[in-house]
Amino acid sequence: MPEIPEMEVYKKQLSETVVHKKIVDITINREKSINVEPQLFKDLVNDQLIIFVSRRAKHLIFTLGNGYYLVTHLMLGGRIYLAQPGEKVNTRGSVIFHFFDKTKLYFINLRLGWLYVLTENEMDELFAKLGPEPLGKYFTLEWLSDSLSQRRGALKPLLTDQAFIAGIGNCYSDEILFRAGIRPDRKANELNLHEVTALFSAIPSTLQDAINNGGYMEKLFNSNDHFTGKYNDYLKVYDREGQPCYQCNDTVQLITVSGKKSFFCPSCQN
Ligand SMILES: [Zn+2]
Repeated sequence: MPEIPEMEVYKKQLSETVVHKKIVDITINREKSINVEPQLFKDLVNDQLIIFVSRRAKHLIFTLGNGYYLVTHLMLGGRIYLAQPGEKVNTRGSVIFHFFDKTKLYFINLRLGWLYVLTENEMDELFAKLGPEPLGKYFTLEWLSDSLSQRRGALKPLLTDQAFIAGIGNCYSDEILFRAGIRPDRKANELNLHEVTALFSAIPSTLQDAINNGGYMEKLFNSNDHFTGKYNDYLKVYDREGQPCYQCNDTVQLITVSGKKSFFCPSCQN
């Protein structure tokens, strides 16, 4: 499932390609992916300029000229593709935006994912329970230290809890814990200050490295995308069970922590 880096990569690519473009037609092939009747969706979105693309947690937000917001969560398997004029795309797409310049933005395989049109209040309500952004100004060492000390559970489920910190999932929680040198099954309130500091530093640095290298998911954004997915080559433990640790040559292991699968190195992580 895409996490902050993958959504930041989409945000960058979308900002460079569809901002200040006008949606002139909409194809809705999967009505379950949207939140209102198809006709109302079209009435609210059609003929609108996309003013701005932003991100909150694992959601992308398109600000429309009429003050409404399109919010998408891709969940498992969903993706976005921008087709050039006349380009043949080998998918039906759950929802497709047709722009004035004949490019088309495909929202593909929104089976669990969705694309909603919302007012600002509705969007605020949707995001109300999310924790702070780990790349934002409210993510401080004091906040992390204080919050961890109040949690008795293990780190792996805590880091992927969207109400605790927003936007981290299965892949980057493992990579962050590897970088911090801490086991995924350690209890949050039992970390010492050195470990809390290591975790505080590993969270944004891991996410930023992944953003700079295109994230780990390799489905491309358009036909001349040579950027997306390069971070897959830099993953240290995620999805590497049984393979040697790049740092110490011990074997990467897979364990289940509170029902969540977690990859880690038993020698590099304590
Ligand atoms: Zn190791």
